[in-house]
Amino acid sequence: MKTNNLGYPRIGSNRELKKANELYWSGKISAEELLAAGSAIRTQNWKLQAENGIDLIPSNDFSLYDQVLDLTLTLGAIPERYTEFARTNNSLDLYFAMARGAQKNGQDVVAMEMTKWFDTNYHYIVPEFTKNQKFELFSTKAIAEFIEAKNLGIITKPVLIGPVSYLLLGKEKEEGFHRIDLIHNLLPVYFEILQKLEAEGATYVQLDEPFLALNLTNNEREAITYVYNEINNKFPSLKIILANYFDCFGENIDTALALPVDTFHLDLVRCSLQLDDILDSGKLASNVNLSLGVVDGRNIWKNDFKKSLAIIEKAVTALGENRILVAPSCSLIHSPCDLDLETNDATLTPEIKQWLAFAKQKIKEVTLLKQLASNEIDHDYSIELAENTLANQDRKTSKLIHNEAVKNRVKGIKTGDDQRQNAFATRRIKQAEALQLPLFPTTTIGSFPQTPEVRSWRAKFKKGELTQTEYDALLEKETEETIRFQEESGIDVLVHGEFERNDMVEYFGEQLDGFTFTKNGWVQSYGSRCVKPPVIYGDVSRPTPMTVKWAEFAQSLTPKWVKGMLTGPVTILQWSFVRNDQPRSETCTQIALAIRDEVVDLEKAGIKIIQIDEPAIREGLPLRKEEWADYLDWAIKAFRSSASGVADDTQIHTHMCYSEFNDIIQNIADMDADVITIECSRSQMELLDAFADFKFPNEIGPGVYDIHSPRVPSNEEMVHLLEKAAAVIPANQLWVNPDCGLKTRHWDETKKALIEMVNAAKKMRVAATHLETV
Ligand code: GLN
Ligand code: ZN
Repeated sequence: MKTNNLGYPRIGSNRELKKANELYWSGKISAEELLAAGSAIRTQNWKLQAENGIDLIPSNDFSLYDQVLDLTLTLGAIPERYTEFARTNNSLDLYFAMARGAQKNGQDVVAMEMTKWFDTNYHYIVPEFTKNQKFELFSTKAIAEFIEAKNLGIITKPVLIGPVSYLLLGKEKEEGFHRIDLIHNLLPVYFEILQKLEAEGATYVQLDEPFLALNLTNNEREAITYVYNEINNKFPSLKIILANYFDCFGENIDTALALPVDTFHLDLVRCSLQLDDILDSGKLASNVNLSLGVVDGRNIWKNDFKKSLAIIEKAVTALGENRILVAPSCSLIHSPCDLDLETNDATLTPEIKQWLAFAKQKIKEVTLLKQLASNEIDHDYSIELAENTLANQDRKTSKLIHNEAVKNRVKGIKTGDDQRQNAFATRRIKQAEALQLPLFPTTTIGSFPQTPEVRSWRAKFKKGELTQTEYDALLEKETEETIRFQEESGIDVLVHGEFERNDMVEYFGEQLDGFTFTKNGWVQSYGSRCVKPPVIYGDVSRPTPMTVKWAEFAQSLTPKWVKGMLTGPVTILQWSFVRNDQPRSETCTQIALAIRDEVVDLEKAGIKIIQIDEPAIREGLPLRKEEWADYLDWAIKAFRSSASGVADDTQIHTHMCYSEFNDIIQNIADMDADVITIECSRSQMELLDAFADFKFPNEIGPGVYDIHSPRVPSNEEMVHLLEKAAAVIPANQLWVNPDCGLKTRHWDETKKALIEMVNAAKKMRVAATHLETV
């Protein structure tokens, strides 16, 4: 029996990568220093896994920004707009220009599109393909990292996204072809990589084909068959581990099982029945091994050894020990790094802490499981097993978890509790009268730049170096300045700026019962951006108002409308580590009721416009279509429950970003928010087509500029996008706003961009009045 790991967090236990990247971007460290920081993290990760008994240690799981972008560079699929930039800059700056856009020395390139990685909160950079797309080996990162580990005495298992999944992750940038047709152009470059890896001494290579968990077309399935047969023909002695994760193979199972690979990796956390299906089918070739993903790579709960051992033993009985690998369910990049760094006993109490395991602990669990399950026990592990059993029992019965009042409130929900008083058509008239907004009203998505000062105040406050009064005074000053800037620049619907918030989910979780927090439980969201998801361990309720004070304060400063800002129940659920002891829907409904109380309190405090952000609705969709209806039903209901406690003339906004909307547009309409703001500019308003085709009834704010880039767009660019929008959506339904929150931006570029944005809206208004008078 072997232990296998699919990927280890690359941000560093103390977010070293984030810090190094950001220093490099701001010109404070050199390229060499950045690369050295990356190398230090890799070395640490490899050594940790080697010391903790992992047999198949991944390499090329590291990335400075994103593993899909790495592969795009590896395969030389560099979009044409970077050709000039590539000629005059080094490959590192080209890489970051593709990731983030760049404005330097008179050059000005926009970033590539970014979207969510399957149903996770990780974002990848979307490959762009043309009809005659050429591929060539452009970067040898995968090989270099294999050699780097080899020089440390560790023979790793290089990890690459498989060719079919790579193509499917991308997007066609012109008409007349499907990206899967590029497989013949693409495969030779994979051959070149595999050949080089084999020459350097690699025996195992992991190819990730997570699309095997999705509904594939026949063409796509045929591509899988073609690719893995070709690879096997060319590299008969290379051991290919074909990794599928996040769901079952579903109807792709026969295609998968017929592939000539060395090992299948299965996600037995997301799809526990898969193993029985495979063993019972009799279709697993007798020389093929199984990597059993029994340790949850996406959540923080301690593994239940008894349960996992039962699974492993079943596989061992059927196949024999030699054909079994024990593994986490997926790459551990979705887990925080190290529970040992959690020393904040007051928040993360010892009782809760003993229920948890992070990446480092999961590595140990994988090894322990193998030792417990294998016959060559050279040590008595009964103490570890007993400890694990005890911790799992304690969690089931703990008083911390159950709150009868919450359970009863959920049971008492009546039909109609999730409906506004009147339909949108009626509400719209009342809101127009109450709010008196111009055509093309301008607003922002909520957060304003979180400067180092703002963050340092919070840090000092948390350390007790600032009193509550001192801290509040600083935040009030920042909020007031932000209100003044918005007034001066002519924005119509203002926000307070969210300076008191560390993160849009954590901020709420901190004030809700049933949540707890880690000090250092960071997980990569995109590039250098990390999030620290709260841990939902028990029944959720809201003891006191969470945002009313700030909304009220901001509104007291200005005669203009200030929009209250909340995070929606689905997003809070989705971006937290959730309980695995009750259905997600149950937890979501509990959160929805807590948010509903907050919405009602904001309205009572005189806030007439309230935004409930739901950027995570789409990513919560199950990967397999047959499970969508059930999820959408409870998720949309939860949103509506949170929004339906207010009067008709209170305007509810929602915000979503970085997702495809086409196939859930009906459900988005069913959310019945009065206004929805969405990210659109990276796709040049393409996303809006879904809303236009559907004749989306409510108001829409398609983002007119990309907030992930420091680039300041001109008002002409934004007018151009707004004209595109106005061509498909009636002008009186359109709002003008950035793509998303501005917290990661600097003030300087933010001010410039928002002034340009207001100018763009003004031009649109002039054009519209002109049209009317003509
Ligand atoms: N209101 C949040 C903000 O502006 C929304 C962020 C998001 O959609 N991810 O920061
Ligand atoms: Zn957003």
